Amino acid sequence: MELEKQYEVEITGISHQGYGVGRIGELVVFVPQAMLEELVLIKIIAIKKKMAMGKLIEVLQPNPHRQPPACMQSGQCGGCELQHGSYAYQLAAKRKIVQDAMCKLARLDIEVKPVLGMKEPWRYRNKGVFHADYSQGIVRLGFYQPESHSFVPANQCLLFSQAVNGLVCWLESAIQNTGLANEIDKIMIRESSTSGACMVVFVTHAHKWRFSNFVEQLQREQPQVVSIYHNVNTNPKVMLGRHFQLLAGEDTILDTLDGLQFQISPQSFFQVNCLQAEVLYRKALEYAALTGTETVIDAYCGIGTISLYFARHAAQVIGVESIAQATKDAKRNAQENHITNCKFITAKTEDWLPKWLAQKNTADLIIVDPPRKGCDTAVLDAIIQSKIAKVIYISCNPSTLARDVKYLTQFGYVVEEVQPVDLFGQGWHVEVVVSICRKNT
Ligand code: SAH
Repeated sequence: MELEKQYEVEITGISHQGYGVGRIGELVVFVPQAMLEELVLIKIIAIKKKMAMGKLIEVLQPNPHRQPPACMQSGQCGGCELQHGSYAYQLAAKRKIVQDAMCKLARLDIEVKPVLGMKEPWRYRNKGVFHADYSQGIVRLGFYQPESHSFVPANQCLLFSQAVNGLVCWLESAIQNTGLANEIDKIMIRESSTSGACMVVFVTHAHKWRFSNFVEQLQREQPQVVSIYHNVNTNPKVMLGRHFQLLAGEDTILDTLDGLQFQISPQSFFQVNCLQAEVLYRKALEYAALTGTETVIDAYCGIGTISLYFARHAAQVIGVESIAQATKDAKRNAQENHITNCKFITAKTEDWLPKWLAQKNTADLIIVDPPRKGCDTAVLDAIIQSKIAKVIYISCNPSTLARDVKYLTQFGYVVEEVQPVDLFGQGWHVEVVVSICRKNT
């Protein structure tokens, strides 16, 4: 195979990032934008040891589910990697990604359930981070192409509400007109799916915020913005820095899920798609089959979303979370929802859980919802040693999910059901909830 050369490739698989996968001789080639069962013409743009990256030149035989993307910038901005396929195709592709992980990585013989999809797979995102670009003296907000610093304007992004897009346009012109160009690096916007209220976080390199007039103008002209923060970040590898300073308004934004209210601080995690988060948490609750007598551990609990869902049906819930502000939000959320049988601990799960279980404590059920890197082995070992009867694993990364599930099944656990839920229409991400129980031994 040669760099820059063109090849015809049959797409026979799909990678976990939604790329089409084919073969040229012994080499595996990944092709963004190519769909399963297509014959495509590609150009090789990178070659590594056993794999290559191809750029799609032409679709020679299209998948019947191929469709013209609704957004002009599809394939450019780094979001919506599956927009060229119908929504039915997207769901089938995501199911295959999870099924492949379960069969090939976890070596499990289990049929993954069809993905629970969205009714309307657009305008669902309640949070976005918009990069600022100041080239040619024009202020624009948007995104970077994957693994690059090439800027693509947000341009009425179809994943956000019209109101958020309107706010983005307002910010662009206000920054332009008030001489703030080059000062702001990124802007994070969070919108309450319940009320439409917004939180805006300005991210800068500079440590001091010097633009109080601008903040006043934002409050005056965009009254739905109820919370305004400044965040300092000088590390290009992360989106936001650690320190948030409240510039105006409320310190949290309020959203609701299934009648539960959640106050969300800017640094706290909250699922970006509220309607589908409800579907996910309801499924987890169904798997838990709680009777009201159980002690539940909610590991990686964030602001206590799952804890509060479960608390209504269990004796007690203990939430563990590493970010102190999120734990603080969780405590406040329990209080404001009049839930008294929850306790929240700020700690790394891998530090806290083994110690807690070693002190002769026990739980009937543990739910783990870790970040993309999955669970630390110390967490899995502690579960295995204490023989917790039921584990519910929520994952945003099928590869690490498969790794961890494989480990648990090697030490006395069986997987009962694997249910993907789509929280990210048009994109390749997929959430999975897995019901796992201890074998009777
Ligand atoms: N279950 C929550 C949050 C899931 S996101 C929800 O559904 O809303 C994962 C959470 O794990 C984040 O809040 C992150 O801050 C936290 N986290 C990351 N590493 C952790 C660790 N080692 N121990 C405990 N929490 C951790």
